[in-house]
Amino acid sequence: MYRLKSKTAYKEAIQYIPGGVNSPVRALRSVGESPLFVKNAKGVVITDVDDNLFTDYCLSWGVFILGHRHPYVLKAVRRAIDKGTSYGIPSLPETELAKAIVQRFQSIERVRFVSSGTEAVMSAIRLARGFTERDVIVKFDGCYHGHADHLLVSAGSGVALLGKSSSAGVPDAFTAHTVSIPFNDTAALDRVFSQRGKDVAAVIVEPVPANMGVVLPQNGFLQHLRDVTRRYGSLLIFDEVITGLRLSDGGAQKRFCITPDLTTLGKIIGGGFPAAAFGGRSDIMALLAPDGPVYQAGTLSGNPVAMSAGIATLQILAQPDVYEKLEKKAINFYNRLSETIYDKNITLNHAGSMFTLFFTKGEVNSFADTQQCDRKRFAAFFRYMFNNHIYISPSQFEANFLSLAHKENALSRFLKSVKNFKG
Ligand SMILES: *Cc1c(COP(=O)(O)O)cnc(C)c1O
Repeated sequence: MYRLKSKTAYKEAIQYIPGGVNSPVRALRSVGESPLFVKNAKGVVITDVDDNLFTDYCLSWGVFILGHRHPYVLKAVRRAIDKGTSYGIPSLPETELAKAIVQRFQSIERVRFVSSGTEAVMSAIRLARGFTERDVIVKFDGCYHGHADHLLVSAGSGVALLGKSSSAGVPDAFTAHTVSIPFNDTAALDRVFSQRGKDVAAVIVEPVPANMGVVLPQNGFLQHLRDVTRRYGSLLIFDEVITGLRLSDGGAQKRFCITPDLTTLGKIIGGGFPAAAFGGRSDIMALLAPDGPVYQAGTLSGNPVAMSAGIATLQILAQPDVYEKLEKKAINFYNRLSETIYDKNITLNHAGSMFTLFFTKGEVNSFADTQQCDRKRFAAFFRYMFNNHIYISPSQFEANFLSLAHKENALSRFLKSVKNFKG
């Protein structure tokens, strides 16, 4: 494949940007490629600066459930931009998107907008600590909750590739109140709570982890989290930055019928713009400034352009049977994919419209299981798909995403490529 312009763009970028990228996994290092520089994207097709076309299964890490540049969303964005792009003063789209979220998520009575998932989680944790007047946070190995200092403990996503439990530059004291235990391990949770339960402010979890690759909660695991946190007066935080509006219109919590105390949202709700949110019970949210003592703020929070993109996205997702259709397409795809990989020592995990192909024979139910994967083989697979003009998420420890815009011809091309992969 001719990639001269991307390579030239990379050479120039690294002179001004560390590693040439603004988020590490984009550098494609762990899969032995040089980064792709995008010229434009539409639907599920990305065009790079060399005019190569790729079918996109990463979709800006799950943002584009409608596909890139959906005409209805674009129209809403253009209308919004014509009115002004930021005020630092309240505007109507903020309430409209907040209302749409409160109506959809059973556990969310009040919601506040921020600009990134990292910020949403950071704020939710501060709020949980303020509410409970406790310090300890329990998380799960391989779950990623953004890059705030105190959560970079056994974190997934790009951090999983660093092969260490935490980032440099994080003082031990900052993670002293963070306990990380294996996902799906109820006994480990019980042990932590029997020792320190009265100090635990919150348990935070990706209800269906996607940042170590897709891993499913075993039967009863999420309910167990709900029961234990309730018993000890700790809060349960669902980090639904990926799963909210991905697994159903009311997130993973609706799918699994569990009511968390706080929820974080991101990715899809910004419709391709920097917007994220955290919300929950009104008595907890009442502790936030200006009503309460927990401080939290943001210059571009509730940005009217981002809000408009989010509102338009949610309106399309509210059309009848959207999730049913997406799910039906996904299940059909997974059935065929399972047949394709049966003799390849690959394990398929999926939930709704997100999936991961793990390069291991065994079941994958925890971060430890994901570490059994053959990363070299995955890297070869990524490059093989890439050369076949298919852009999957560029790490073994990430999810791939289907969208309303993936059509049968694209999906069958994906399956055919997997079938022909000989690595
Ligand atoms: C992406 C993600 C985040 C971080 O969001 P950013 O917008 O990248 O800061 C947090 N939690 C989960 C579950 C995510 O998938």
